[in-house]
This record gives sequence, C-alpha cells and structure tokens, in this order.
Amino acid sequence: MKVGEACGVFGVYAPGQNAAQLCYFGLFALQHRGQESAGIATSDGQTLTVYKDLGLVAQVFSDASLHALEGHVGIGHTRYSTTGSNRWENSQPANRQVGQISIALGHNGNLTNTAGLSQRYPVESAHGTSDSAVMLAAIAEGVDEHRSDDRGLEIALASTLPSFEGAFSLVVMDQGRLFGVRDPHGFRPLCLGRLPETVSGKSGWVLASETAALDIIEASFVREVSPGEMVIIDATGLRSRFPFPLTDPKLCVFEFVYFARPDSILNGRNVHGARTEMGRTLAREHPVEADVVVPVPESGIPAAQGFASVSAIPYADGLVKNRYIGRTFIEPNQLLRDRGVKLKLNPIAATLAGKRVVLIDDSIVRGSTTRQLVALVREAGAREVHLRISSPPYRWPCYYGMDTSDRSTLIAARLDIDEVCRHVGADSLGYLSLEGLLAATGSDPRSFCHACLSAEYPTDVEGAQGKFWLEEPIIQPLSRQPD
Ligand code: SF4
Repeated sequence: MKVGEACGVFGVYAPGQNAAQLCYFGLFALQHRGQESAGIATSDGQTLTVYKDLGLVAQVFSDASLHALEGHVGIGHTRYSTTGSNRWENSQPANRQVGQISIALGHNGNLTNTAGLSQRYPVESAHGTSDSAVMLAAIAEGVDEHRSDDRGLEIALASTLPSFEGAFSLVVMDQGRLFGVRDPHGFRPLCLGRLPETVSGKSGWVLASETAALDIIEASFVREVSPGEMVIIDATGLRSRFPFPLTDPKLCVFEFVYFARPDSILNGRNVHGARTEMGRTLAREHPVEADVVVPVPESGIPAAQGFASVSAIPYADGLVKNRYIGRTFIEPNQLLRDRGVKLKLNPIAATLAGKRVVLIDDSIVRGSTTRQLVALVREAGAREVHLRISSPPYRWPCYYGMDTSDRSTLIAARLDIDEVCRHVGADSLGYLSLEGLLAATGSDPRSFCHACLSAEYPTDVEGAQGKFWLEEPIIQPLSRQPD
C-alpha cells in the first residue's frame, strides 16, 4: 500500500488555441497524481464552462464534452481525495458565480486550518465537503467585496490567501485570467511553461504540477513557481506577486521518493536520477550478499538500478506489472487493496526461483502490501528475500495532502525495524537514512518537508485532523498489533 497523493493541477492561457485540448493532454500526463475524478474549466473571455466527473481522464472526457469546452483559458484537475469523500461535488475544478464573475479553482495539497476556516466561510454541501470548497468560499467572499473592481479576483486572492494554512498549489481562473499560486512553504510542486508560437505568432503560458505535463504539449519549461508566489496571466502578459510573509521552502520529499513521475524535474534535478542515487546510497548503507536485485515496479526501478550498480549484484525484472490497472490506493477499502496486489503484480519464477533476492521498494506505509509482495516472491521460489527501502521509516502522519493522517495505521509507528521485518516476512530489512535521502535529491536538505519521517512539521498542525502527531512513537510488540 502506497500513500495517496492529493491531485494534479494544470492551467493554460493560450490565445488562439483550444485550452480544453491542451488541458486534456496535460491531465493525461498528471493522471498518476489522482484517479478518482477529473475535470476541466475553460473560458472564451465571456463564459466560463466546467465539465468534471468521477473517473480517469479518458473515462470522463469524450469528443463531445471537450467540444463543449470553448475558449483559450483553462484549468484542469485530477483528484485523489484526502479530505472530503469521493463524490461528484468534491471533484474539481470547483466553481462559483459571484455576480458577473465566474471563478474556477483546482487545488493540490491539504489545508491544516480547514475547521476554523469553515466556520468563517460556511459551505453548502452542494458545493462539496473538501478544504478546496472552503478555500473557494473564502475567495468568492473576497471577490464579492471587490465586485466593482476589474481586478476583483486578483485582489481577493491576495487578501484571502494568507488566511490559508498548510499545503496548496492552486490554479485559479475567471473569464479572462489565469492564476497560479504556491503556498509559502511550497509543499506541492507547481511549474511554469511557455507554449510554442503558433503560425499566427501567438504563444501562451502553462502551469502544471509537474514538468512532464509540459512535455506532452511541447511547452518549454520556464521555471518553478516560487513558494509563496502568485502568478497572474492575462492579455497583458505574466505578472508576479508575493502575498505571503517570507518563510523557508519545504517541498514534500516524497515527491522525489514516489509521487512525481521519474521524467519530471524538481528543484532542477531529474527525479529518475535522484531515485537512482537513493538506490546507490541504500546499497552502501545496507549491503547484503545476494544473487539478484529485483525492483517493485515501477517506482522501485531506478533505486534498484542504483543498488545493483554499487553492489555489483545483477539487476533483473522479477515482478511484472499489469499496466491496465491503476494504483492500488485508488481502491477505497483494505479488502480491495489486499486483492489489488495480485491484480497488479505477478512474479517471474525464472528470475526468482532458488535465488537470494534483494527486493527494492520505495516505501512501506501500512505494511500489508509489502507483506504480500514478499510472500509472492517466496511463492515463486526465492530462497531468501532481503528487503531494501529507498526511504526512511514512515512513522508520522502527513497533514499536507497524503492520506496518512491516522498514525495508528502506519506500521513503522507501531513496530521497530526488526519487528517490521518479521511482520512482512523478509530475511532482512534496511531503510535508507534521512541524510542519504536528502543528499540524493541534490538540493539543500533544509528545503524539504520530511515530517512523516522525522516529526519535524514545518507548520503548526494542531488544528489539523487528529492528534496522533502529539504522541511519542508507539512501538509495541508485534503480537499486540496484528495487521
Ligand atoms: S509529511 Fe511527508 S508526505 Fe507529507 S508533505 Fe511532508 S514529506 Fe510529504
């Protein structure tokens, strides 16, 4: 079981071009960030139209629905719910009408002060039950206050954004403008790209959670939207504002470990390269005598390649992924998640039988998937299974957009490393150190959030859901905590 990511966002301002088509391709590239719902909002400068539904991008949109989305400004969203249930009202872009002004918003991340905000900005259930709905209610109230001002939405955003706490990378639009916002810590990524010029000499701007979504529409990478920055894109070009007090950047380190696509670039570093380096360091930190290095596909592949290169143990594919099934975390209950492992992966006995296997995965969160994986490899005839994990033990809840807010479900919070090893049925277990992980990113180690690994939360999370974070680690004997 992997931790769930909380959405992909995309936005485009493309004079003379079809924004809906560009958003559709962008969302395809961001499908891995959320598979519960997908949506696009577009505007031709006069009318803002939204189309969204539960399901994958390819299921939600048809030629007819894309045709109905007219105009050159657009935003798109793929959703994985971490607050608010998986229902149509919570799919995004969320939208509101304030007088003559139509607003649409797409959000990646989680607020940590939603409870307080929702008292100040109550939301009818028809508008959704997520933190994003509360944000939009707050922004809409700001727009209402500045209705007579042409820059109403910009002013409303600048005045409202500082009241939001936690993680938010946003794409927002009205009939004629596109906005991109990153919270002051920049927990979630957001990048800026430039569209190639059309034959009529017009270009345009793109905002996306990851650079891979720029590549698919042949946009060039310009830069990352800075933590705490709001960019405003309209007929006059691109402007930038910083509505928040300055603070330290804290990009989620799990973007490098697992969430981002390997072909994306974060902090100037290719994600595949960082993951390979994690595997190299893991091999130095936890060497083992074995016959073959096998990745858990697909996010374990680069780390396994790195491990093999340093250990000089041959690399081989030992598990085959069914490419036509989504990530297991899209399935809502544990029973289905358990089934999901066998639906998703099948062992190659010819690689594994009789071998001492180093099995490389990127993380262990709840432990149930890992236990099934180890069992699969043993059933295929492996003589020994040495598990190596390219991140440190995941011991603390995330309040910034991963669905791990209940600490009691985290296996490394309940068991020490030897007990986790026994629980998952491995012969040995080694986790990458936090220092090794941060070094592999090639960025300043102080520029990351790693609260789920270290309990060092960059913001006050007392108002966030649950209080597990206040407790000391709850390491208990294995026998008292069956999975
Ligand atoms: S707590 Fe962990 S998963 Fe959550 S934002 Fe921080 S590093 Fe990412």
